[in-house]
Amino acid sequence: MKIYLGLGSNLGNKRLNILRAIEMINEEIGTVSVSSSFFESKPWHFSSDEMFINAVVEANTQLSPEELLDACKDIEKKMGRVKTKENEYEDRLIDLDILFYGNQTVNTERLTIPHETIEERDFVIIPMAEIAPDFVHPVLGKSIKALADSLQISAINPDNR
Ligand code: ADP
Ligand code: MG
Repeated sequence: MKIYLGLGSNLGNKRLNILRAIEMINEEIGTVSVSSSFFESKPWHFSSDEMFINAVVEANTQLSPEELLDACKDIEKKMGRVKTKENEYEDRLIDLDILFYGNQTVNTERLTIPHETIEERDFVIIPMAEIAPDFVHPVLGKSIKALADSLQISAINPDNR
């Protein structure tokens, strides 16, 4: 299945964290076919002095959606993400979100696919528009490019460092 994963890091060596996570996705989830550039964004719905680095990757996986979620959590854990607060956004070494699993929708207690409110998140839509502009959001029925065009762009810059 073709999948899109969103990566974010706002602690430590952020760019290196994203690169390591991409390597681990390649090893533990499936072959990464394309990865976007890195973008810098402000923390979303929580306050922190640390900006995020974000990227989106496309991969092919044999894992089921549930197995994929477990694999993402496993990578987060191996990379040393420490959760201190339940149900709150916080600084993180690495965050791996399942954006899309082919055209499938999943709605369970643990898993919502497509990832919720993708269309409001510039740090997801803009990197994804770079690698898959024509991918159609299976619930909204709009392409990523169309979603990018109607986005209220708040705080995202190409990370050119
Ligand atoms: P954040 O919302 O900041 O990404 P977490 O990464 O801690 O927070 O995720 C919280 C929970 O969201 C996970 O434990 C997982 O069960 C759930 N979740 C639901 N849908 C998804 C998805 N599409 N991708 C990743 N996690 C998801
Ligand atoms: Mg997450």
